[in-house]
Amino acid sequence: MELPFGIRRITTPLPTRPGHVHSYLLPGESGWTLVDTGIGLPDAQDVWATALDGAEVARIFVTHFHPDHVGAAADVAELTGAPVSQGELDYSQCELVWGNPEWPRRIAGWFVTHGVPSEITEELIGSGDVYRPLIRYQPDPELVDDGDRLDGWELVAAPGHADGQLCLIKDRVLVSADHLLGRISPTVGLWPESRPDPLGDFIESLRRTIELAPELALPGHGEPIGNPVGRAYELIEHHRERLAFTESILEDHPRTGYELSLDLFGAELKAASRRFAVAETLSHLERLVLEERAERREDLGMVAYTARQLGRRAF
Ligand SMILES: [Zn+2]
Repeated sequence: MELPFGIRRITTPLPTRPGHVHSYLLPGESGWTLVDTGIGLPDAQDVWATALDGAEVARIFVTHFHPDHVGAAADVAELTGAPVSQGELDYSQCELVWGNPEWPRRIAGWFVTHGVPSEITEELIGSGDVYRPLIRYQPDPELVDDGDRLDGWELVAAPGHADGQLCLIKDRVLVSADHLLGRISPTVGLWPESRPDPLGDFIESLRRTIELAPELALPGHGEPIGNPVGRAYELIEHHRERLAFTESILEDHPRTGYELSLDLFGAELKAASRRFAVAETLSHLERLVLEERAERREDLGMVAYTARQLGRRAF
């Protein structure tokens, strides 16, 4: 697909929803910059050889370490010979999660402390092991950060969906990856070893997007966004409402993130979706704690939340 300023979009399939992910080829003086690489399905290199159709890739940039963006980075690097750039914080999380065979157990144990039943966490350990071969990140990439430039594009940190999420901006075009999506609200979850307030980060990142005033955003999923500033305002409002709803279901007795996720997202979710539902519930609960609209209790290794106890001193 051809976009303004000679930008090209390449779409590759995903085995899970939303079924596709977009990468972008940004034209530059020294060749193309490829943004994101899709997931590392076994035939990824063949898919990319066909999709690139001889285009000279000068560099590969990974916006964040989620499987559908970083998964085929090593395949595409090998195919094109191009160096890979990735955010410094993002790469450290990439190694922590995908370079560590113990991670599925670590994350499962963490979910148990938030009340998730063991049959769900066991399933998560199994699916983590299934996913791992599809993530072939490039070791030792060139590390970049907010404010750096890549062939005329400025990198903009947008923590929230991922702590180390980086977008690119030039000529009022924002390559937003999963920071800004058109129809879906990007997931914003609390995870073990993540920054402490991902939802607060996300809302700040949306405010920064509004200040940057892009006129077009190119997301990782779905169609280009013609009014990115309006979309950023919508997402801020969406989370304001979700925070109010989350606050409204808190009670005087402690309830875990898992229990509260049943109220917020319904009881009928498969393990993989429940994982995101609990993480998203927790990002809202932690924001409410910081805004002094909820209280966190930790007892016998379990974490739970209550309504704000008025008149009681919060320590
Ligand atoms: Zn994505």
